[in-house]
Amino acid sequence: MSRLASGLQRPRRSLSPCEVLWCALASCGLVLFSQLAVAMVPRLFPSLYLLAMLPIAGLVLLAAIVLGRLWRRFIGVTASAPLFVLFNILLSWGVYIFVIRRKTSSLLDMLINAECALLLWGFYRILSCDPGIFACDSSYLAEAGCKDFVEAIYTSERLPMLSRVRQCTWCKANIRGYDHHCPAFGTCIGQKNHRLFMALLTGFVVAESTYTMCSTKYITICISSGTIKSENPVSLNMVISTMLFSILQVLWQIVFLMWHIYCICFNIKTYEWINWKKYPEFQMKEQPRSDSEVKSMNPYDKGMLCNIRDFLKPVLSTKT
Ligand SMILES: [Zn+2]
Repeated sequence: MSRLASGLQRPRRSLSPCEVLWCALASCGLVLFSQLAVAMVPRLFPSLYLLAMLPIAGLVLLAAIVLGRLWRRFIGVTASAPLFVLFNILLSWGVYIFVIRRKTSSLLDMLINAECALLLWGFYRILSCDPGIFACDSSYLAEAGCKDFVEAIYTSERLPMLSRVRQCTWCKANIRGYDHHCPAFGTCIGQKNHRLFMALLTGFVVAESTYTMCSTKYITICISSGTIKSENPVSLNMVISTMLFSILQVLWQIVFLMWHIYCICFNIKTYEWINWKKYPEFQMKEQPRSDSEVKSMNPYDKGMLCNIRDFLKPVLSTKT
């Protein structure tokens, strides 16, 4: 439970219950503000096609988030990215149940409700589970002959125990199989939660695609039956804004998902791919050319099938 609480707030400073409440209100307010801003797009440009609305909606969403961030800084309230994600799931689910559901088939209704429930469960699991925190022991430093733990990690060939343990720059935690710190889920992604992260990311893409399908069907039925003008304008705008929001989310999440699939196939972590020059095991000096000529080499790449097997069934160290 303490991991869940720390996941919902910035880990560098613990917040009081009152601050957590303000943080939740700020996150909820930001969700409503950004969704209302996106809802203005179809109102201001009613004659535009959906595809043409998308880039405008993207810019409006970005501007709303920047404005919301400036306003929060001005009034001195911090917000939480995981709560922003959580409230967005709840808002879209609410719009589906109260507006879209009556024009959806029972099969699709069962599917989208199950997907939303699974997303909430997965979200809770990733906030509360251990990403693979490596307990720092001073005996490791003495054995590796290093002054501090960060230096010991950089020279992990001296101590196989520290292989692929990296320090998260956001939480300062040492994580085995560290991939990146995910602000949206408020946790590090490491060896123990990487598979859950991939399942959750896939779940988001699937649920948002289903939501887009249901909302598009709802609008099409309203237009074809001629009831679009008699629909509640607030409800209709919320359907369009949550639909545009879902499409924008799916677009970047698919790129992100493809990147992670590539990393799994080649057994490289995002953090290692960016910071390979910091770690000697990734550096291959070309001979007999100058010493400055350094190429990257991934010593963990065992071939695609073995890499995928290692991802699905990692060897978890017992001394963590
Ligand atoms: Zn972290």
